[in-house]
Amino acid sequence: MKNKSETKIALIGGGPACATAAVQFLRFGHEVTLITKEIGGTVRNANLIENLIGFPEGIRGWEYVNLIKSQLLNNKIPYIEDTVVSVEFKNSIYIIKTKDSEIHADFLLVGTGSVPRKLDIEGEEEAFQRNRLYYEVYNGKKFSADKEIIIVGSGDVAYDYALNLLDSSLNIIIVQRTNKTKSLPILQQRVSNHKKIRILKNRKPIEIITNDDKITLVTKMDNKLFPIEVDVIFVAIGREPNIQFLSNELKAEYENPSERSKLYFIGDAKKGNYRQISIAMGDGMKAAMEIDKRLSLEEHTDGTHSQIW
Ligand SMILES: Cc1cc2nc3c(=O)[nH]c(=O)nc-3n(C[C@H](O)[C@H](O)[C@H](O)COP(=O)(O)OP(=O)(O)OC[C@H]3O[C@@H](n4cnc5c(N)ncnc54)[C@H](O)[C@@H]3O)c2cc1C
Repeated sequence: MKNKSETKIALIGGGPACATAAVQFLRFGHEVTLITKEIGGTVRNANLIENLIGFPEGIRGWEYVNLIKSQLLNNKIPYIEDTVVSVEFKNSIYIIKTKDSEIHADFLLVGTGSVPRKLDIEGEEEAFQRNRLYYEVYNGKKFSADKEIIIVGSGDVAYDYALNLLDSSLNIIIVQRTNKTKSLPILQQRVSNHKKIRILKNRKPIEIITNDDKITLVTKMDNKLFPIEVDVIFVAIGREPNIQFLSNELKAEYENPSERSKLYFIGDAKKGNYRQISIAMGDGMKAAMEIDKRLSLEEHTDGTHSQIW
């Protein structure tokens, strides 16, 4: 039997988007139910966050997550630490299910971030299952100390992973599928300053072979095969919104949002979003303000509602 509860507003996620919304709801005097796998999220991977105003020296991802935790704790925002497995909409209520609980909500904010893309090549799943391939740097960092590493990818995340693993690893090979590097120039410049990091371009990954002590990424260039043997592989080839737990009806709403809906997508989970902390926070804040306005309009039938700066 699942534990059942009801709430006016439910939030799924404990990253910058939902944390911001939760704090703002509290300021409006609304009680919320926040359900999250863990506090923090993607940002845990960030080597150094330098574009968040208020941190003149930058801040490490894990340190920032600790600040989010403290802020939720200081504001006494209760949260359920659990994984949402399904959400459906029935009789004007959002029904949110985890393994052990069922929460019914009038309004729902989905701030579940993103999931990493896979290479989709032979041997990838086996390497992941055997803990030799990682998609998130915070999961794999401790296993890459004094090891030879491949990072597959050419964007900000791949270059940020390289800088993050620089001190602990033996050496790093960045493998790019094409000649084009998509990462920010500042990250490219930092990476190029290090002899420990080698960049191989135009190498298409086609297979991964996991042995007991080594792992091989087989790449292809000009119709020739180039196997590269290392200890650990990180895959950082992009991320996509994490919404697979939604019912088909709600996924359709994700594609075609309606203004009257009480379902809000915030942060990296939002369709077509730019993935940045400040945008996630802005989304969370805007959703909280819009929902407060709608709730006050429901309360004050004369159409008046409280105004906050
Ligand atoms: C390597 C790297 C470096 C980055 N550097 C920067 C940077 O310098 N500056 C910047 O602005 N941005 C940076 N970003 C992007 C930034 O991390 C994201 O834009 C930001 O974290 C998005 O916040 P969010 O709240 O939308 O999602 P997330 O932070 O991903 O949070 C999602 C939350 O949802 C929870 N969740 C997921 N699925 C479920 C489920 N089924 N049930 C319950 N809970 C669930 C997770 O536990 C998590 O708490 C970086 C990202 C990466 C990967």
